[in-house]
Amino acid sequence: MANIMAINAGSSSLKFQLLRMPEEKIITKGVVERIGLDGSIITIELNEEKVEKTPDIPNHAEAVKILLDALTDYNVIQSLDEIDGIGHRVVHGGEKFSDSILIDDNVIEAIEEVSELAPLHNPANLTGIRAFKEILPNVPAVAVFDTAFHQSMPKEKYLYSIPYEYYEQYGIRKYGFHGTSHKYVGQRAAELMEQPQTDLKIVSCHIGNGVSVTAIDGGESVDTSMGFTPLAGVTMGTRSGNIDPALIPFMMEKTNQSAEEIISMLNKKSGLVGLSNVSSDVRDVEGKANEGSEKAQTALDIYATRIHKYIGTYAASMNGLDAIVFTAGVGENSLTIREKVCQGLEFMGVQFDKNANQTRGEEAFINKDGSPVKVLVVPTNEEVMLARDTVRLGQ
Ligand code: ADP
Repeated sequence: MANIMAINAGSSSLKFQLLRMPEEKIITKGVVERIGLDGSIITIELNEEKVEKTPDIPNHAEAVKILLDALTDYNVIQSLDEIDGIGHRVVHGGEKFSDSILIDDNVIEAIEEVSELAPLHNPANLTGIRAFKEILPNVPAVAVFDTAFHQSMPKEKYLYSIPYEYYEQYGIRKYGFHGTSHKYVGQRAAELMEQPQTDLKIVSCHIGNGVSVTAIDGGESVDTSMGFTPLAGVTMGTRSGNIDPALIPFMMEKTNQSAEEIISMLNKKSGLVGLSNVSSDVRDVEGKANEGSEKAQTALDIYATRIHKYIGTYAASMNGLDAIVFTAGVGENSLTIREKVCQGLEFMGVQFDKNANQTRGEEAFINKDGSPVKVLVVPTNEEVMLARDTVRLGQ
């Protein structure tokens, strides 16, 4: 039996979950927000009750200290000796990591080297790793990478059609993201279907603020919609997804903006919010569409159609399809998006069931009985994956 901390450290926040393994039971979870800013706040869930504290939290090391103190103060654990391992989410592992790994100085250095590919995320993830290392130096810590699951993609899927030396010299290729989530829901779908994953061709749709679609053949990622960065692929809440690359200099010239400003627009002001002028939240856009807004309706149509197209593409590239899986905020909760995505896939054996689709946030089959292709909702659980890998590699 082991208590494992699953940590997701951002630039000013630190999400945590303490899990008891192997039961995979959540002992407590919470978040430290506004680290290094005014109005720092730590929220911990204790027996369904949320406790908030607002101490000064100037940096991640202090955040970890306050978090650990809170755990003992509230008797969640009696002493820090009861923490047996720490799993850290790391966004980018580049080509160096195709699996999670026990963290040592070499691993920290390698994560630093890859930071060029994820300049906002990896340094923030590292601050979390360092902060725990300082306070709990002897507790095994494991890094779990968002990119690792996609390292199984074959070359013809991860290379861009640009001169080969750009890949060799600069590491320019498709990496893909949300890997931990896609891996979890793929495994879970196979369990729910009571079939070995090695026999299954699955397309998983992680539809949250970020959206990515992955082809999972025999348990391995063989293609995914995000690319060198998480801007690529389908339309998202605020991100454009794929566009014609020649648009970038064209828009720079027309609007007198720098490349950086255009990329920021593509990351933050595009997708659902840009198209609808309403919000990046599917619920708000749906609300406006129901009131008759044509722009909002078009935004939703584009959003769903892009995902739909990827399902067709991936079914073709895998030469078949056994299941479509929906996960993350929108995938778990939006009945209309799920229905729209599956509309027009009947020709390849997707028999969507509108009644079964009346479900939110729970594992469910939403296909008709006897449908050749199964359609599932599987709430994602990246923390459990962090904890499993920490147990597997840290003990
Ligand atoms: P992240 O990618 O940040 O982890 P989430 O997976 O939590 O995001 O997804 C957040 C999104 O989920 C919100 O922007 C919202 O559009 C969507 N969402 C959450 N609940 C619902 C709901 N009941 N109906 C439709 N969309 C929802």
